[in-house]
Amino acid sequence: MMMFYPDTLLFIDGRWQAASDGRTQDVVNPATGQMIGKVAHAGQPELALALAAAQRGFAVWSATPAFRRYQIMRLAATLVRERTEEAATCMSLEQGKPLAEARAEMEAAADVIDWMAEEGRRAYGRIVPARFMGVTQSVIRTPVGPVAAFCPWNFPVNQVVRKVSAALATGCSIIVKAPEETPASPAMLIRAFSDAGVPPGVIGLVYGTPSEISETLIGDDIIRKVTFTGSTAVGKILASLAGAHMKRVTMELGGHGPVIVTADADIVRAVSLLAASKTRNAGQVCISPTRFLIEKGVFEEFRSAYVAHMQAVTVGNGQHPGTQMGPVVSLRRLESIESLVSAARDQGAKVETGGVRLAGEGYFYAPTVLTGLTPDMRIMNEEPFGPISLLCPFDSLEDAITEANRLPYGLAAYAFTGSGATAARLRDTVRTGMLTINHIGLSLPEIPFGGLGDSGYGSEGGSEALDAYLDTRLVTSMDY
Ligand code: NAD
Repeated sequence: MMMFYPDTLLFIDGRWQAASDGRTQDVVNPATGQMIGKVAHAGQPELALALAAAQRGFAVWSATPAFRRYQIMRLAATLVRERTEEAATCMSLEQGKPLAEARAEMEAAADVIDWMAEEGRRAYGRIVPARFMGVTQSVIRTPVGPVAAFCPWNFPVNQVVRKVSAALATGCSIIVKAPEETPASPAMLIRAFSDAGVPPGVIGLVYGTPSEISETLIGDDIIRKVTFTGSTAVGKILASLAGAHMKRVTMELGGHGPVIVTADADIVRAVSLLAASKTRNAGQVCISPTRFLIEKGVFEEFRSAYVAHMQAVTVGNGQHPGTQMGPVVSLRRLESIESLVSAARDQGAKVETGGVRLAGEGYFYAPTVLTGLTPDMRIMNEEPFGPISLLCPFDSLEDAITEANRLPYGLAAYAFTGSGATAARLRDTVRTGMLTINHIGLSLPEIPFGGLGDSGYGSEGGSEALDAYLDTRLVTSMDY
């Protein structure tokens, strides 16, 4: 059955519009490899319009009372909930993920908007006690200014909503470069904000050539903050560019999630939670568990149960009921995964299950488990960003901690253990932005989300998410 999939336009100054030269880019369904629609491709004229609109939008929105901003955002959340089915269908078609995951992403987006809207009402300043009578020292928080946001295709709505909601809650305007691979669902999110009453110019939405857009926006004086989610390699380029222009930055980059499972852990529970987490979004998740470090005494038990879980996963078109894992997003992604796995195999890694792309149309890669790994293999150092699990036995907890901390990344880490002392030791020694012990508990709006080292800096959750969009200013005055 042919599903409806809309072409996507740019959103500039409150108007949906094509590029002035009519340029578009094809959108492909990764489950079939077929073109399903088009997205407008912004050039310099559209970027100039978007920048000027963001400047005007900032003047309007930063002068809008926080309570009014909150009301508009809460209405946007309601509209997102009402439109979940339509947006989730588009997301599944353009990104490949199962409909159930796409629906959950829309629900989570509404939740993020609600939480950030509420938190915007509490973006307090403070009064610092003074050293002299008659002096009042006020710390005030003001929105940083127009923001440029660069968002990837793995969570087409979630990556956008975190940035837009934090910006709106604090009184900033924002230009979003949303993913060209998956343009329709983020456009539906932006439409919900606009329909809820966000004034023209406060949100801009563009697609095009990523490097052209980032160089233009970051280099322009109007933009005061840059936020990016994507690979470490691109993050370093954008952070350098932002540094050259002295712009505030949030970077949410790659990872290589270590998992530590000790012999006293509940292995059955660990296996089922981790296997479900690994296959979510076909492993294209920055916080995906990747390097599984399993204590030797339970390695065989863990391996056989985990492989059985992976072999039972129903892989298919995300539109089909019963599909548990969809394709990866593009041929490029598929080839990159294939090359990492085949290099590891050539160096002696054992493929316990998977290790192949699936025959037929679309970009499907089998859930894959590798053992016999060594730290020099490329796959043990580069983020596979696919349904790949790397299982390694360890002798002592110290060895596991050393391996977990070996890479320059530090985004998400996982642990399953029956010992409180081990949990405390891991909390104190694993160098990571987020550690989840004995459950999978990351990525809620009210808790911080962000990394260390090559995984970037800044947070996209918790009250810290709003701090990133606020300037802190001091006014100290003496009453006569
Ligand atoms: P990529 O490095 O080519 O692109 C990553 C993202 O950055 C894409 O959304 C792309 O449009 C954007 N981008 C690329 N060059 C840019 C530029 N000069 N200016 C602005 N944006 C730019 O990688 P890819 O093949 O699309 O994705 C695979 C890798 O990206 C993964 O290995 C993973 O590390 C990373 N990634 C991370 C996340 C995340 O959630 N942190 C999401 C998607 C991709």
